[in-house]
Amino acid sequence: MTARILDGKALGARLQAKLAERVAGLGFRPGLRVVRVGEDPASGVYVRNKDRAALAVGFDSATIHLPETVTEAELLALIAGLNADPAVDGILVQLPLPAHIRGLAVLDAVDPAKDVDGFHPVNVGRLANGQPGLVPCTPRGVMHLLAEAGVSLPGARAVVLGRSAIVGRPMAALLLAADATVTIVHSRTRDLPAECRRAEVLVAAVGRAELVRGDWIAPGAVVIDVGINRRPTGGLVGDVAFAEAVGHAAAITPVPGGVGPMTIACLLENTLQAALARRA
Ligand code: NDP
Repeated sequence: MTARILDGKALGARLQAKLAERVAGLGFRPGLRVVRVGEDPASGVYVRNKDRAALAVGFDSATIHLPETVTEAELLALIAGLNADPAVDGILVQLPLPAHIRGLAVLDAVDPAKDVDGFHPVNVGRLANGQPGLVPCTPRGVMHLLAEAGVSLPGARAVVLGRSAIVGRPMAALLLAADATVTIVHSRTRDLPAECRRAEVLVAAVGRAELVRGDWIAPGAVVIDVGINRRPTGGLVGDVAFAEAVGHAAAITPVPGGVGPMTIACLLENTLQAALARRA
């Protein structure tokens, strides 16, 4: 068996083209503000890509870049201003923040109606309760990829590898909301390969290069690789040993070019969703 490759770059581009068409017909430009603190180089790349994509679909988008030395009080005051600004529909605070700033306090300060990352406790709670709200972009992107793969989720055995607040937990909640039978596995799981082999849908979000081997994958499973790991020799690699996995899976996402581009497309979807809800 050779797996079908799920092209997130192409799917993300199609979603963005659809969004651009919708935005053109709105009569207003959804407003997105991305807040970056300090000089973390990876954050710089992410923020630039988000801003560029937002402008390309016709949003009113801007990045607010604060120095590493900004105080927590100053950052909270900035967020309060964005919360109060009627032209701003979405606020995203790029993580990580410098150590002297309490990340949770900052995420709590964002108006849940403008929380396009879906990290505010109100949105986390809504997702956990199965209520509508703004959901984290990466798991939302994975749901699009599963739809693209033609996966029927009701009753399907889904295994989520990783339990972080930004990927694993919300991923499991979305799969549960779609009526999958969900197992979450993590660093304390006893027999990781055996748990993974039970999966019809396997989502890997651990941040360990090529942890998931080909023989962990059930024949015909759909594999979504969220991991982004830097090879010591340069280049990026996922959490799944791709060359092995293509011989077992029915469909699989590549790294790069799988989940990454979908995350950005879903940030734009979340911003449009927030704008439509706020301005209704
Ligand atoms: P975290 O480090 O926050 O979480 C990793 C999870 O994996 C934890 O639950 C941890 O378990 C588990 N884990 C770690 N090592 C093992 C192991 N050896 N065996 C089993 N479980 C393990 O990472 P994130 O969720 O933030 O990110 C995961 C990956 O996804 C990273 O590579 C990140 O770069 C990537 N990512 C990609 C995005 C994209 O757009 N494509 C967006 C966000 C993240 P425990 O809880 O027990 O410690």
